Amino acid sequence: MTQAIIFENARLLDGSSPEGEHDRFVRIEGGLIREVSDRPIADGGARRIDLKGRTLMPGLIDCHVHVIANSANFGQNALLPDALVALQAVKLMGEMLHRGFTTVRDVGGATYALVEAQEQGLYVGPRLVICGKALSQTGGHADFRGRYDNRKPDYQTHQLGSLGRICDGIDACRAAARDEIRQGAQFVKIMANGGIASPTDPIAFLGFSDAEIAAIVEEAHNAQTYVAAHLYTDEGIARAVKLGVRSIEHANLVQAATARLMHERGAIACPTLVTYEALNNEGASYGLPPSSVAKIDDVRLRGLESLEIMREAGVTMAYGTDLLGAMHRHQSEEFVIRGRVLPAIEVIRSATVNAAELIGMTGKIGTIKPDAYADFIVVDGDPLVDLSLLTGQGRNMPVIMKNGDFIKNELN
Ligand SMILES: [Zn+2]
Repeated sequence: MTQAIIFENARLLDGSSPEGEHDRFVRIEGGLIREVSDRPIADGGARRIDLKGRTLMPGLIDCHVHVIANSANFGQNALLPDALVALQAVKLMGEMLHRGFTTVRDVGGATYALVEAQEQGLYVGPRLVICGKALSQTGGHADFRGRYDNRKPDYQTHQLGSLGRICDGIDACRAAARDEIRQGAQFVKIMANGGIASPTDPIAFLGFSDAEIAAIVEEAHNAQTYVAAHLYTDEGIARAVKLGVRSIEHANLVQAATARLMHERGAIACPTLVTYEALNNEGASYGLPPSSVAKIDDVRLRGLESLEIMREAGVTMAYGTDLLGAMHRHQSEEFVIRGRVLPAIEVIRSATVNAAELIGMTGKIGTIKPDAYADFIVVDGDPLVDLSLLTGQGRNMPVIMKNGDFIKNELN
């Protein structure tokens, strides 16, 4: 076994208590947390790191990323050669890890090969949870063809740079869901509303018929997992929740009654407000087509209000960002944006305990308890007082650890 490590004099903050706990000792061995104590831990062979009261948090979790999206132009991205896309994804994931994100849920694009390559040690990145390709109907949010592009849609199905694949009709939807699960998808993603970065679907369009969504939900359930859906409008969200969709992505235009329905049915929201700010400020310069730029404010302007509506209804919210290409550098700014309307502890929970719940890894990630993976960040200062300490590309994080390995250690 590898040498044990003990973090000493740590202030723990994982979202499980409102203020965190001071003067704690945490022993790590074999990639796992073994002991958490309020007094010094005896272990003659352990390497000791005195945090001197610094904040020790679980590694952060981002539940809405696209690691293969190196451009804001989805259509162009889908045509890139797989080798280029894979190496770009590795670079993006390395940068995520150095911002303190030790787990990311990819909601469209990443394939099992990227998971396996990481397990083989071919690159260092955040723990990667995937859905394979997002499912979209013809003309939906993962159909990148413009009005005059009449290629058969299956050109994109096996392109690594494609976020999604097209399926129409109940049988084809079942087959696509089964096919993604066969290829290693850990949940199923559907595009159930129009979107910004796709050419022919206004935001309010509903994606898939009720019967198609019900069939996909059944397939996910049969495979012991859940469906996540791209959704903006109140109508779209209410429909999806009633049909059994569990993970509600974006949710910008949700209204109070639908938020209460989400809470009743145990749906979890994954807002992604930072991407609309980034697209608004920089999207055009990173390849977002003019037809897409025109749609940004349809959802951007209601973002903060949606957080307040969902909080009021008691909806569990997870951390998501949905950034594309060079805009990924804003990944941690979602903390600050949410902090404008939510208490800091709730924002922190979104990237720790709530995210773990959504991913189905409660007790393994997003927590500082025995048996959890030894994924940590050490923060200089108190994020409850200033969430911007989590921004700045890891500037205020002298230690980042994943699975018991130091990604970064500036303390000793
Ligand atoms: Zn997305």
